[in-house]
Amino acid sequence: MAVRAAVLPAVGAPLEITGIELPEPGPGRVRVRLAAAGVCHSDLSLSDGTMRLPVPAVLGHEGAGTVVAVGEGVTHVAPGDGVVLNWAPSCGTCPACARGEVWLCADALAGAAEVHARRADDGTDLYPGLNVAAFAEETVVPASCVLPAPDGVPLTDAALLGCAVLTGYGAVHHSARVRPGETVAVFGVGGVGLAALQSARIAGASTIVAVDVSPEKEELARSAGATEYLVASDTTARRIRALTGKEGVDVAVECVGRAATIRTAWESTRRGGRTTVVGIGGKDQQVTFNALEIFHWGRTLSGCVYGNSDPARDLPVLAEHIRTGRLDLGALVTEHIALDGIPAAFDTMLAGKGGRALVVF
Ligand SMILES: [Zn+2]
Ligand SMILES: [Zn+2]
Repeated sequence: MAVRAAVLPAVGAPLEITGIELPEPGPGRVRVRLAAAGVCHSDLSLSDGTMRLPVPAVLGHEGAGTVVAVGEGVTHVAPGDGVVLNWAPSCGTCPACARGEVWLCADALAGAAEVHARRADDGTDLYPGLNVAAFAEETVVPASCVLPAPDGVPLTDAALLGCAVLTGYGAVHHSARVRPGETVAVFGVGGVGLAALQSARIAGASTIVAVDVSPEKEELARSAGATEYLVASDTTARRIRALTGKEGVDVAVECVGRAATIRTAWESTRRGGRTTVVGIGGKDQQVTFNALEIFHWGRTLSGCVYGNSDPARDLPVLAEHIRTGRLDLGALVTEHIALDGIPAAFDTMLAGKGGRALVVF
């Protein structure tokens, strides 16, 4: 039986909402009926070719749903269980996994090169985008891409855990390691940026500056924990230093992936502070530093993959923050849409508007 899905036919082509045929879950695989899926900037990056993975593909990598069937050997979930999809599964044996850095697993995207489904209309092979193909009513994924959903969290909220929240929370807690009383600036108020703002609040940051190109996101940013809101301009770094006793922030988190924003985040960081880059930019985004300033400022500049998160370890921690109300997943969502609303959600993202758009099935 065919299910509806958002398919990217080729890089640069518009998404098509069409029927796909999924295989029965074989050994070690799980079939999931999606409850909701978030529209992430990385889906846009796959569709425009900034990130390259095999196509044609079913996009969507941030989702949650209910297990409908499991293949042989799957024991950690059973039909009827709520699950969160994990687009970056870890193999457990590569050098990164052996070091405990599962977010850097060498095999994380191996599944993206395996045929996932077929188009119902013409039988074309389809790949699973970032492994989990969440822009579909149902998906079949490796068991390692499925984590039990936390108790007491609605699946429509839990969908956001799989990318935006793990990434934004992890950037603040694992990469930048924000301590109580520190000052933080977050650049880019999308789904990840909003999760980073809430996480800075959870960490006990004192001043939390949100920066975005859009003046319309101020209320959204403030409700996520921002104590200051700046519309990005040539003077952003100077204004952030003015807000922090001329020092600069202890921690700057860049959620955009553009050379100019990375440079501004770096210049907004105090001497000896930490700049964490979460945004995924293209190869054309060259950032330059002169040797003297690297010495003089003594800052640490870090890349951050998937929030340096271990989903199995971090989901229970996030669930506790949700249950106590410190983390408000509903506040990240600015739009509830159907599957055929994804192309318009891409346009909204391109225009720099909104937080997370959530596909509700
Ligand atoms: Zn994502
Ligand atoms: Zn590995």
